[in-house]
Amino acid sequence: TYVVTDACIRCKYMDCVEVCPVDCFYEGENMLVINPNECIDCGVCEPECPAEAILPDTESGLEKWLELNRTYSEQW
Ligand code: SF4
Repeated sequence: TYVVTDACIRCKYMDCVEVCPVDCFYEGENMLVINPNECIDCGVCEPECPAEAILPDTESGLEKWLELNRTYSEQW
């Protein structure tokens, strides 16, 4: 899955939301999040993010952000 990180906070670009083929972006408290159960790992959102806030969860140190993406995206 891909994960939205803190570079997204208060970013108002929605380019990622528009390109996601499965609509798995959700509104978090002050940033967007990706639902890890719905993300199909296509990767098209990553280069669309002007803040470079979207990373694959295979990168190290993202456990906290993955958890936050899961929590906020499942409250809907
Ligand atoms: Fe959506 Fe693809 Fe990005 Fe996952 S990797 S959030 S499916 S655009």
